[in-house]
Amino acid sequence: DSLPQTEPEKQLNIPPEYYRFESFPEYQKLQLQIQQVEALGNGNPFFIPQEQVVNDTTIINGRELINFATYNYIGMCGDRVVSQAAQDAIERYGTSACASRLIAGEKPIHRQLEQAIADFIGSESSIVFVGGHATNVTTIGHLFGNNDLILYDSLSHNSILQGCFLSGASLVAFPHNDFAALEEILRDRRERYQRVLIAIEGVYSTDGDIANLPKFIELKKRYKTFLMVDEAHSIGTIGKTGRGIGEYFNVNPHDVDLWMGTLSKSFASCGGYIAGSHALVEYLKYTAPGFVFSVGMSPPNAAATLAAINVLKAEPERVAILQARAKLFLDLAKERGLNTGMSENSPVIPIIVGDSLKSIQLSQNLFKRGINVPFMIYPSVPQNEARLRFFVTCNHTIAQIQLTVDTLAEEIAKL
Ligand code: PMP
Repeated sequence: DSLPQTEPEKQLNIPPEYYRFESFPEYQKLQLQIQQVEALGNGNPFFIPQEQVVNDTTIINGRELINFATYNYIGMCGDRVVSQAAQDAIERYGTSACASRLIAGEKPIHRQLEQAIADFIGSESSIVFVGGHATNVTTIGHLFGNNDLILYDSLSHNSILQGCFLSGASLVAFPHNDFAALEEILRDRRERYQRVLIAIEGVYSTDGDIANLPKFIELKKRYKTFLMVDEAHSIGTIGKTGRGIGEYFNVNPHDVDLWMGTLSKSFASCGGYIAGSHALVEYLKYTAPGFVFSVGMSPPNAAATLAAINVLKAEPERVAILQARAKLFLDLAKERGLNTGMSENSPVIPIIVGDSLKSIQLSQNLFKRGINVPFMIYPSVPQNEARLRFFVTCNHTIAQIQLTVDTLAEEIAKL
């Protein structure tokens, strides 16, 4: 009746860092970094709950602060019409698409939204994904492969890089915005590869400068490559009516192969889009893993974006005000001799401090004085370029901006 005798189990000699998260050296390093930031005296500055709609102001711990930490550039998040559209969509469809669109998750609101995005940009067609980050990862990762080359701007967002890594293509980062350096690489290497992608952003998210799109279009035509523009921070913010970098430079929308944008910034929602030719969009809809094997965008998110696009078309003055406020901020900061880096004509305005600890301190000192603005430190930006990053919105008043730049200049002088 007894169980057969087995050999006593041999003890494997595996160090805990290979099978326990708390023993990961990376985790221990992270703990140290958090402790260092906390030691500056104001507790942990990450994951601070914002208690209401975040706009030109925010409520933290019951206290109202002037706020420069939101992507809500044109005030669509919290807008009555946009919120109502999301509520109506919930009434009609519920809160989830409950399936991949390819199978059973397709709703009329998805098609209306994709048509609206294509019309807004001037492309043939568009496709929406559930995340902005996921849009870049799955699109770049899917369209390019081992025989291909991706040339991406050295300041490209993490989601572009992740897509590049996933693709298995050869990768070269070209110096930021340097189309002459890019041309050298193309001249040297174009013919060695099959498909070549040039990936740039409209407005760069850490620096607030604008790519010279016409030059990149010239190169993509000359060297027969694809051109992708990530408009996360340029759609809704630049161009006379907020149609982004294409409108800003008055280019033909068909000269960019992949218009990419996020729905989490100007469009008050969550998700991303790729706009371009019918062939591109159809191919992605049937084959891109992040679309096919993922749920469709939630109906309230789709409805909120659609409403935001419609409100923007009806009220282009939001963009004009945003641009005027951003210009005011930049001009005042420059007058005060503050280092605004490369920022120009965009609502993303960095104040470059250099030292990481100083920029954390500056952010905390401003917080005490009623201004909420996050710091950016290495590895989000290069080692000696730690900064505060201000996102201006159309709802900021002239007085709020004046007060902020005055306070900022005083606090920098004290550092
Ligand atoms: N691209 C860029 C340039 C971004 O800045 C971001 C997010 N900040 C994304 C893509 C990802 O978008 P989301 O946050 O909507 O996922």
